[in-house]
Amino acid sequence: QIRDINKNYFGSYSSFGIHKEMISDKVRTDAYRQAVLENPSLLRGAVVMDVGCGTGILSLFAAQGGASRVIAVEASEKMAAVATQIAKDNGFLQSGFPRSSGQHDGVIEVVQGMVEDLDNATHIQPHSVDVLLSEWMGYCLLYESMLSSVLLARDRWLKPGGAILPDTATMFVAGFGKGGTSIPFWENVYSFNMSCIGLEEVEGAARNPIVDVIDSCDIVTPTQVLQTFDLLTMRSDQMDFTAKVELEPKSVTPTNNSTGSKPEITWCHGLVLWFETGFTERFCSEMPTNLSTSPYNPKTHWSQTILTFREPIAMASSKVTSEKPAAVGTNACPAVSVQSRISIVRAVQHRCIDISMELTGI
Ligand code: SAH
Repeated sequence: QIRDINKNYFGSYSSFGIHKEMISDKVRTDAYRQAVLENPSLLRGAVVMDVGCGTGILSLFAAQGGASRVIAVEASEKMAAVATQIAKDNGFLQSGFPRSSGQHDGVIEVVQGMVEDLDNATHIQPHSVDVLLSEWMGYCLLYESMLSSVLLARDRWLKPGGAILPDTATMFVAGFGKGGTSIPFWENVYSFNMSCIGLEEVEGAARNPIVDVIDSCDIVTPTQVLQTFDLLTMRSDQMDFTAKVELEPKSVTPTNNSTGSKPEITWCHGLVLWFETGFTERFCSEMPTNLSTSPYNPKTHWSQTILTFREPIAMASSKVTSEKPAAVGTNACPAVSVQSRISIVRAVQHRCIDISMELTGI
């Protein structure tokens, strides 16, 4: 069964469309390009391993950046063949192994197979890699579960003191309002009320997370960090985690005519998740870079991951009333502070992720 799952998974990477989509994602590709090309002291003369090279784009950057050897590993047969051709066409392909000293027409060596199967029998020495490079992130960071392959490669091939790019990953969460659902669209269609469709769509969205773009204007809470990973030191079992965060409404500036007796209610219709990966100054000391998939930043092909509540939650911020001077608040009632506490549990199964939420009003 696992073999079938892998076959389907790597099969999906044999189509060129997915590689075109990834390469065209400028936020993504430029972040890697910048990390590789603008940190010359890290890359110059380095032995680099590119885990899951696809077309070989990151390996080409590494070769361009002065790496002495680039081991480009790709499980998809089709893509490994294509990456070999591309490296050759660009004058970066190594002609064969073993190479006679000082005689090589390129530095990239494409190895077809899963990185897990790249064992000690090959001509690569364990713990001989200076820089481990990979673009492994899936939707909601962890979908696809490719991270565990990268961690395994790290443990087997990276030199002590070697670098991993990117070296950090952070997941974020925030609450969104009605505008983040399809309700407003269906409420007024050429002035007709079609909201029954919106409600049905919300039902569906409450069952399965949706990958889509959220407009930052529709976010109603400050952003919280859900989880951070240090890719240099983490273990793969840490990908299964439970995180608790408390979300409050974004603070609202009290208006002059508000009486102070009624806290403003913010309706939260669900949670939006996104991630960032860091090429931090730990390894990228000349030019640290951050790859962000935040709704506050330019869009990427990962969009955001949207978890919709079956029913919206009313949130009232204590800040709305507590910011008023006591004298003005005559008979002000204390604000009802409703926060939601979510617990997200993730389990890797067949390259999918499980996310569950537990909401607790406070
Ligand atoms: N590095 C390329 C492609 C990234 S997509 C780029 O940045 O454009 C991830 C690639 O990793 C896919 O081509 C997939 O087939 C490959 N891959 C995933 N898991 C792998 C594994 N365990 N071993 C080798 N290749 C893998």
